[in-house]
Amino acid sequence: NRLFRLRNRPRGRVGEGDLEWGEEPVVEIGDGQALVRTLYLSLDPTNRVWMSRVRSYIAPVELGAVMRGLGVGQVVESRRADLPVGAYVLGFTGWQEYCVADDFVLEAPFTVLPDPLPAPLSAFLGLLGHTGISAFIGVELGDPRPGETFVVSAAAGAVGSIAGQLAKQRGARVVGIAGGAEKCRRLEAELGFDACVDRHSKDWRKALDDATPHGIDVDFENVGGPIMDHVLGRLNVGARVALCGLISEYDNYNDRSDQLGLRNVHQLLMQRATLRGFIVTDHVERYGEIIGKLAAALQEGSLSYEETVVDGLENARTTLNQALSGETRGKTVVKVAAP
Ligand code: NDP
Repeated sequence: NRLFRLRNRPRGRVGEGDLEWGEEPVVEIGDGQALVRTLYLSLDPTNRVWMSRVRSYIAPVELGAVMRGLGVGQVVESRRADLPVGAYVLGFTGWQEYCVADDFVLEAPFTVLPDPLPAPLSAFLGLLGHTGISAFIGVELGDPRPGETFVVSAAAGAVGSIAGQLAKQRGARVVGIAGGAEKCRRLEAELGFDACVDRHSKDWRKALDDATPHGIDVDFENVGGPIMDHVLGRLNVGARVALCGLISEYDNYNDRSDQLGLRNVHQLLMQRATLRGFIVTDHVERYGEIIGKLAAALQEGSLSYEETVVDGLENARTTLNQALSGETRGKTVVKVAAP
């Protein structure tokens, strides 16, 4: 069983000494357990949060433990009726090739994926998984109405790219913020965004002002930091901020300088705006309904998704670092084994 164990809490990017790569015997299963072979592992910005001790919605990964991660796998041995051999399952596989299905007591149990599958397996970690569902819930909270201006940061990523498409379907003017001209071009040309601002351009603040001439009614916030601050400064009266993530801060969570500081918080007051944070796993009871809607939209062609698939579990650490810096596009997953 090849795997990654967390050895140190990283400062900045995740180093080789923080996540240690190793090989151990596959564990024997006992009664009421099943052995799952990981096929795809989801790489998420929140993995970096779990490595830190920041006060969070979930306990940190203990030092020495297998790195926590969500994956899609296949049951290869079973001593429980609800997880038959051969079934495709979704759950906290961890960053390892094989896991015991009830190993991760902290988190949700494994669930069996529908048969036949409505989309490729990896989609259950993206559009039809936690990132697509986050986009759906955040757009619902932001409630963009026809003609309103909806801004989404990390717009070319797993959550942002879906959130922008959903807001567009509600008739809003959708403005994305993404890293690089090529990402922006694709969002405008292929996903129907009205405009996209390249956060690496020198004059991104002016570009965002130009793209939002009537101010901002909804902020789907994924990044925090200077981008969120500038967006707050342009909120309209009654604006809604759906606070999904703060990726610009995550690398600092083991240092003292936890937060990058916002200077425009007063605009929430002046504009009588609402800011609401949300965590997708609080909405488990709605997953079935939301996945059904997203799958239908995918099948009728009104939603599309992109993914970056990297082969080999051994590349998970470096790929996570790349995803955190914006070097991947759409949902980032590692292909651990062929189905
Ligand atoms: P992705 O890895 O797909 O996208 C993250 C993107 O963030 C990167 O590609 C990069 O894109 C951008 N980024 C990185 N650093 C910065 C920075 N300093 N400033 C601005 N942008 C930056 O991630 P997801 O789509 O999965 O996640 C997006 C956000 O949503 C994250 O904050 C994540 O934690 C959060 N999230 C929250 C959930 C919840 O339940 N609340 C559930 C899932 C995700 P680019 O270079 O193109 O700007």
